Amino acid sequence: MFSDLLDLVLPASCALCHRPDGPLCPGCRAAVEECLHPSPRVALPSPCPPGMPQCWVSGEASGALRAVVTAYKDEQRRDLARPLSAWLAPALGAATGSNAGARRALRGRGLVVVPVPGSPRARRRRGDVPLRPLVTSAAEGLAGRALVADVLAPTRITRDQSALDAAERALNLAGAMVVRERHRRVVEGAVCVVVDDLITTGATLAEASRALRDAGAAEVLAAAIGATRRRLAVDGQTDGPPLERVWRQV
Ligand SMILES: [Zn+2]
Repeated sequence: MFSDLLDLVLPASCALCHRPDGPLCPGCRAAVEECLHPSPRVALPSPCPPGMPQCWVSGEASGALRAVVTAYKDEQRRDLARPLSAWLAPALGAATGSNAGARRALRGRGLVVVPVPGSPRARRRRGDVPLRPLVTSAAEGLAGRALVADVLAPTRITRDQSALDAAERALNLAGAMVVRERHRRVVEGAVCVVVDDLITTGATLAEASRALRDAGAAEVLAAAIGATRRRLAVDGQTDGPPLERVWRQV
């Protein structure tokens, strides 16, 4: 509220370079747009976690795009919600447009759009769930009936994922989500699209998908703003040249 009032008086600075031209100056916006694919792509992490749903992304989670997501989530730059939801929308549109079940759901009983649940710790630290308004706003662009619903809940405390590798993340998240009892009927037989901001190993989407399928979802798809292209050292040669971890893109 206070920052809203402040925005009326002071123009917001650019979230990345802090010049007085916010929330993103033309130069930084152009840098983000370089991270975006010409059209959304399917990204499959390698190794692919079991149960990973087909996931569409708008871009690559690197450089300026990653910095904007961090500024939005962790540096109180909630004024970036509009561009971020605009960059999420193409991936969400592609995920639903490419799937016959999703298109039918949009015309009929409704497509269930599910933000991945944040950890209770992150919610306490941030005071809100920054992913939620991005998903709501992006889903408004879908033609048909889409229901954005927080149907997933964490079942237990999980470790911070940032320092974990793919296998550790999968273990950390195994059985970590469940469909809330009161939402089971929404999920049963439904086509669901799980949405995250950036994906790294796919462990979060795979676990969300498992929980939705266990609750009877007919089909689970996924969408995210961007996917990380990871650089890995050659096995046993940490000083060797980095290998591009390859994302299968179609
Ligand atoms: Zn800038």
